[in-house]
Amino acid sequence: MKDFKNKRSTITYLGLIATALTMVSCSTSEDASPETEVSTSSTITEVVKSNYKSMVTVSTSGTSITLKSQGIPDHKTAYWGVGNSLYEAQVNGQTVTPGSLTTQNFVMTLTTNPSEASTKEATSLGPIGMALNGVAIYNDREGGNVAVDAGTLTTFDLGGGHSGPGGLYHYHFDGKYTSYDDAKLIGFLRDGFPIYGRKDKDGTYPSNLDSNGGHVAATADFPSGIYHYHSSKTSYLNSAFYVLKSGSYHGTKGTFTF
Ligand SMILES: [Zn+2]
Ligand SMILES: [Zn+2]
Repeated sequence: MKDFKNKRSTITYLGLIATALTMVSCSTSEDASPETEVSTSSTITEVVKSNYKSMVTVSTSGTSITLKSQGIPDHKTAYWGVGNSLYEAQVNGQTVTPGSLTTQNFVMTLTTNPSEASTKEATSLGPIGMALNGVAIYNDREGGNVAVDAGTLTTFDLGGGHSGPGGLYHYHFDGKYTSYDDAKLIGFLRDGFPIYGRKDKDGTYPSNLDSNGGHVAATADFPSGIYHYHSSKTSYLNSAFYVLKSGSYHGTKGTFTF
């Protein structure tokens, strides 16, 4: 008799759990996008619009987003030059390149519906993406398309950036003003995929990155998952710097004029 009662109450209890689960799953499925690789298109547009800073002009047309910026940092750097209110002396023995820092005319287009390219194109010298403050993102290469060397490493500021020919300031590394050992959104690359700091949103370093430094997983901005890049968790040439992006684009790159 006692056993029977216990069984009944267990069954009732399980029934309640099942009912609760059904209710939860129903309400979730109404809000969540379908399992099929959701069109991230509206989401990408929203994330771009809500995360790019005011100095970046965002416009959309069909499946294309255009970002325009002057490409100058909104933060302190030695590259502003002594006397500028945003001048910050280099530290730790870093120097500056002879280059100044000049207003640019950046126009980057990306698709709102990025997908994996069948043939991956290598990133090349020059802008490969745009950070949230409108500064250009470069890969790990310098003039002549050679890897940043120890000498060039001494020219980077605390933001992981420096200025090149034409006063074009750009980031090769993560840093104080974008992301530093965290999971912050840094910007988007020309192929429409976002790039984040070294960590995933749960605070761990991703362990399944592909050879282009990305993987499909949930991020704070894309809870249902998206392909995204991470800055490298390995210090570059044993320096204090961590490369934002090396290798190829995962998708197909859009234009970046400057
Ligand atoms: Zn450079
Ligand atoms: Zn990730």
